[in-house]
Amino acid sequence: MMKLEQAREQFKTIAARLKAYQYVLGLANWDMSTLAPPKGKQAAAKAIGVLSGERFAITVSPELREVVETILANKDEATRVEVREAELLYEDMEKLEKIPKEEYQEYSELQSTSMFVWEDAKEQNDFDMFAPYLEKILYFSRRFAKLTKPDMHPYNACLDDYEKGVTMTELDAFFGAVREKTVPLVERIAKDGRAIRDDFMLRTYPVDKQEEISRRLLELIGFDMKAGVMAASEHPFTNEITTGDVRLTTHFYENMLTSAMLSTVHEGGHGLYEQHAQLSPVVGGTTLATGVSMGIHESQSRFYENSIGRSLPFWEYFFPILKDAYPQQLADVTLEEFYRAINIAKPGLIRIEADELTYNLHIMVRYELEKLLLEGSVAVKDLPRLWNEKYEAYLGVTPPDNARGVLQDVHWSGGMLGYFPSYALGNAYAAQMFATMRKTLDFDGLCRKGDLAPIGAWLNENVHQYGCLKKPGELIVDITGESLNPQYLTDYLQDKFEKVYF
Ligand code: ZN
Repeated sequence: MMKLEQAREQFKTIAARLKAYQYVLGLANWDMSTLAPPKGKQAAAKAIGVLSGERFAITVSPELREVVETILANKDEATRVEVREAELLYEDMEKLEKIPKEEYQEYSELQSTSMFVWEDAKEQNDFDMFAPYLEKILYFSRRFAKLTKPDMHPYNACLDDYEKGVTMTELDAFFGAVREKTVPLVERIAKDGRAIRDDFMLRTYPVDKQEEISRRLLELIGFDMKAGVMAASEHPFTNEITTGDVRLTTHFYENMLTSAMLSTVHEGGHGLYEQHAQLSPVVGGTTLATGVSMGIHESQSRFYENSIGRSLPFWEYFFPILKDAYPQQLADVTLEEFYRAINIAKPGLIRIEADELTYNLHIMVRYELEKLLLEGSVAVKDLPRLWNEKYEAYLGVTPPDNARGVLQDVHWSGGMLGYFPSYALGNAYAAQMFATMRKTLDFDGLCRKGDLAPIGAWLNENVHQYGCLKKPGELIVDITGESLNPQYLTDYLQDKFEKVYF
């Protein structure tokens, strides 16, 4: 058996190669969603498929396996970071080894292709155009679940990829708790809540100013523009490219005042997590220098979007700045009116435009449909009808077309089945962390001054700097003293929306 010293040396070499692939693939994916011209996309998808296949080969190579096994056999001598790196790679290896290389490559290519097919399908409101791709994605998801985690329900296997340890049993209970508290409040608001003025939200807000404001918001939350980029894309996302390079996108709408701002702050929360992890004294430069799970990642983005971006103290600081940018459009609007308008709780069609209160119900629809799709108890062609029925049942609205219904989100086109529940878990983690943060930080006072640095520092100290070192469950217990508890979320929502509406 190899010695630990030798394993360390080899690991450095292999990790550098993996990082190089991640860099090129990250850039290529970024480019596909932002700048690449339509006629180049097919070939780009092909190239991405080839490179992914090569990266895959490294991940399952006997060389890497030997290195990882050596580290794991010398746990006492190795550092905590080295052990965790080896453990995570070992898990990946065990999983990927069970997938034939050709299939993995075919799947990677399919992911890229189907993402731009989805873009066209959404634009043309044509579900039939997208359906065959979704069928193939589902085929691979089910097949890979069976190959890699044969003892698990295929949907639990998908969930496990994004939030290790979380299963349908826990999520059924979680959504049950959220639904029990949310639905009556939504109904009470509809019946007795005060009328909230929002006419000004749909006035014309030229995009160049919106872009300026978005950049200013990113600076304010501490996103380092020297280690990051902001661009526009159809669906906002964040890509960690390499150390010192985190890229995020937003989407500007001329007739929606807050859509781009809040998406930018949301992606900024993801970006900050990545930037801090990359430069962390604990995990920086290692394979652990990234977000630990989708749920924890979403807790950071939702925290910035909602706990800060939809809070009254923050807008006490920022509303005058916004008014300066749009003096005519906002001349007749008070801070209070604006604050209430960005917190209107009204069931709607679009997840990314949803308010904090009804948001989790949007996730519940997707959660239930994914379960059915993975089980194979529902055909892809029936998806639009089922989608619309569930929207009617939980939110009381029916999409007039598929673009505003089943085609609205990018995730399924990229093969990300099992991802959606992370959004709701993220809200719950965020609320739980927020309650703890408030014990030691004057959150309201800091927001009123526009001094968000101590808040970013708190998150860095408690979450970001650890990257993947601590498991999600461990992280939340270390920070808050207890495991995930949906009550923090339901209490937070109750308290906030009581004040907004009554
Ligand atoms: Zn997000």
